[in-house]
Amino acid sequence: MNAPLPMHADPLLLTPGPLTTTAATKAAMLHDRGSWDAAFNEITAEVCTDLVAIVHGQRSHVCVPLQGSGTFAVEAALGTLVPRDGRVLVPNNGAYCERILRILGVLGRAAVELRFDESEPVDAARVEAALIADPRISHVALVHCETGTGMLNPLQGVAEAVARQGRRLIVDAMSSFGVLPIDVRDAAIDAVVAASGKCLEGVPGMGFVVARREALEAAGGVSHSLALDLHDQWRYLQRTTQWRFTPPTHVVAALREALVQYRAEGGLAARRARYAANCARLVDGMQRLGFRTFLSPALQAPIIVTFLAPQHPAWRFDVLYARMRDRGFILYPGKLTLVDTFRVGCIGAIGVDDIEAMLAAMAATLDEMGIEPGA
Ligand SMILES: *Cc1c(COP(=O)(O)O)cnc(C)c1O
Repeated sequence: MNAPLPMHADPLLLTPGPLTTTAATKAAMLHDRGSWDAAFNEITAEVCTDLVAIVHGQRSHVCVPLQGSGTFAVEAALGTLVPRDGRVLVPNNGAYCERILRILGVLGRAAVELRFDESEPVDAARVEAALIADPRISHVALVHCETGTGMLNPLQGVAEAVARQGRRLIVDAMSSFGVLPIDVRDAAIDAVVAASGKCLEGVPGMGFVVARREALEAAGGVSHSLALDLHDQWRYLQRTTQWRFTPPTHVVAALREALVQYRAEGGLAARRARYAANCARLVDGMQRLGFRTFLSPALQAPIIVTFLAPQHPAWRFDVLYARMRDRGFILYPGKLTLVDTFRVGCIGAIGVDDIEAMLAAMAATLDEMGIEPGA
């Protein structure tokens, strides 16, 4: 995209995160800020206001920021908002759904797994049937974009089903927040969980939960973790305007700058259009080079694309990875158990020009490896 040198001498990160950030976002970190300082706490408040507005939660929801990577925030949301005698239905079609099940196991919350194939989206009708079959289920935990494959799951359909059945919904929107529409006004959504270092194009280090105020108010004393207690974190922030425990000050400042750019770009619609253009160019160019996608196009979110490894004796992902890295592009291994795949992200401060450059590097690398296009 606009990526100016010299900061852009870094390789481009075509991954699920951390992502390539702009020079201005990196520059926002060149200051030391005190956690007691009013100016810093103002930044936190601004960031939280923006994050709530992105999912239209101004009237009903609040933002609780949390130190750590995205998983910390997912674990905090589940541990705080699901009562200890709650029961969580987890539609499972990939690695991040699997992670939610592991978290619930560790937390000792009852979980009901609803299995789907990794190549098929969650089916809202099956979710609803499972809720009808088991009235003890209190919550559904849905991964919006399953980053393990790049699958888009039908958030709205699931939210409507959950609302009809009078249960509550917690959404892992880590890789979709800010890009794919989420509207907490018309749904059973108690929490939307995401992080600084994904599609908002900040740097990693801060998760956040946009939570329904009433759900959070009712959640005092539920968490058995101190550090991951969202209720306590929220109360403290309300009372003092400060973070409980040392905040990731540089990360918060970078996120504020990234949000300024997000707005200047045109918000969700513009970011979605840029990523969709990246994704379309990527898929088209890779297909020309002979690669096939794991998902059919209709199921593909414009976030990250899973490609099948070519059936060629010279194919080795580690060789491809190293040579692409030398050419300035970081790719990502696959996360599927049964099929040999690799992933290429379309997100971050990159544009179609960067995708074009990556495709040229890919063509040259395949040539070096002796893998002819269309193999
Ligand atoms: C990135 C991501 C997470 C969080 O992973 P971390 O490694 O903790 O940042 C959770 N869910 C989804 C869907 C993700 O893409």
